Parts: sequence; C-alpha cells; structure tokens
Amino acid sequence: MKVNHGNSSGAVSEQRTSTFTGVVWADPVMAATDGVTINNVSFNPGARTYWHFHEHGQTLYVSAGSGWICVEGSEPQVIRQGDTVWIGPGERHWHGANTRNFMVHLATSIGATTWQEAVSDQDYLRSAG
Ligand code: MN
Repeated sequence: MKVNHGNSSGAVSEQRTSTFTGVVWADPVMAATDGVTINNVSFNPGARTYWHFHEHGQTLYVSAGSGWICVEGSEPQVIRQGDTVWIGPGERHWHGANTRNFMVHLATSIGATTWQEAVSDQDYLRSAG
C-alpha cells in the first residue's frame, strides 16, 4: 500500500502542446508507478488530444465541464461531469472539451501511451453534429 499525498512533490502544472490541440494543462496526481500514471487534465473549449492509444487501457473520470470522446470507427460520444469512461488496450481514440465548455478529467493511464496525428477540425467538429 502506498498513499500518494496531493502534489507533495511540488510538481508544477504542465502546458501540453506537442500532442494536444488548443490550450491544455496537466497536473500530476501520481507519477508513473508500475506502469500507471494519473493526471488531472484541463481542456479549454475546442481543445483536445491527438489521436492515440494506451497499451493497457485508460480510465477517464470527468470532474468538471463537458466534452467528447471518440473511438475510431464510432460516433463521438458526449461526456460530462460525473461520467466515467473505460478505453480498452490499443483502442485508437481522442478526447477533449466541446466547442462551448471546458472539461477537466482525471486520466488514469495504464502502460505506454502511443501518440499519433492531430484530430482534424473536420473530425472534431463532426462531434457537434
Ligand atoms: Mn486517452
């Protein structure tokens, strides 16, 4: 058992740029431990991840706002405060805020994350229907 106190390391928030579109900040909750990483991630309206997948999957808990998640080959789905999402190992996907709301989610990632290309505006705006 290991208790992880809130940011006792003094780690600073990181603005994520190279694998995200728009303004995205990440705050470490638990540094990589046995392949598990936990981050609070804040997306401005319009911001989203690049396409990517997680070696052993990922959970998202939406703690504020609302946004979208999209697995390749499926329609984007709305996610909002209180929702929890499981993304399976190797499922190519993206997640982010919608165009009018910010979103904050707690992301628990298991194993390595493989980053791919940016989500085009066309694919992103398809979410708005
Ligand atoms: Mn993900």
